[in-house]
Amino acid sequence: MGGTAPALAVAGLSAAYGPVRALRQVSLEVPEGAVVAVLGGNGAGKSTLLRAISRTLRFHGGAVVAGTVTSGGRPLDGLAPDRVVAAGVSQVPEGRQVFARMTVEDNLRAGLLGGRRDRSARNAAVQRVHELFPVLAERARQRAGLLSGGEQQMLAVARALMAAPKLLLLDEPSLGLAPLMAARIADTIREINAQGTAVLLVEQNAALALRLASRAYVLEVGEVTLAGPAEDLAASDEVRRRYLGVVDETAAADAAAARGVRPVLACWEESAR
Ligand code: ATP
Repeated sequence: MGGTAPALAVAGLSAAYGPVRALRQVSLEVPEGAVVAVLGGNGAGKSTLLRAISRTLRFHGGAVVAGTVTSGGRPLDGLAPDRVVAAGVSQVPEGRQVFARMTVEDNLRAGLLGGRRDRSARNAAVQRVHELFPVLAERARQRAGLLSGGEQQMLAVARALMAAPKLLLLDEPSLGLAPLMAARIADTIREINAQGTAVLLVEQNAALALRLASRAYVLEVGEVTLAGPAEDLAASDEVRRRYLGVVDETAAADAAAARGVRPVLACWEESAR
């Protein structure tokens, strides 16, 4: 037996916005049922990667110039974005994009577009997201714009789940959230995954992402520069220094000894974002 096809396989993907090359030969895989993280700083190409997978890049003036994307062995290349959703891949874009003037329940309904539409499937999807996010049931009739930032992020995730995806693409779900709310979102991602949905998580918050993921990739200026099991990356000096904000302990100790002071391990607090 050759095993099941991965939830996502990206091979040699290059993308550009006009003359600006944003991704170069990116290859990565999300095994079925896994959480995989992509780390990288501002402008590394993380959002571009998700847009290329969800086939929404052209709405941002970009285009895929090389490479292939498959989900469950099925090519996504050339599909319209709604067909990508129908194929089981839903994206939660960066910045909690909800329809502010629509009610919470209408936002959820919008997530069905391109996905399953029959009544029993819809009711099951609504029930699932209400169980994951009870606040969305309580606030069903309110306009989405009245929700807090964290609740809007929950709604954005819930809307993507309405199509019952096999793979969820999450673009910086912790961005701009207080640490407690970011931790709640992380718990929910874990729960969504435990229910059988694979996740590709794009994050600047490396500490959070590496806790959730089994495998991670580091993207720098459009290229994958590091990849491996999440615990290996979390232990690597380069990731610790560049993405976890942990200073090189030996160098810090040497420098401190030279100055006659005790070394302090600088740990970047998630709330500093
Ligand atoms: P951030 O964490 O800041 O959102 P990112 O890793 O998601 O960054 P991208 O937004 O994918 O990075 O950007 C990758 C590169 O493409 C950057 O050089 C950026 O300036 C450029 N870029 C992104 N969107 C566009 C666009 N709509 N038009 C032109 N260039 C763009």
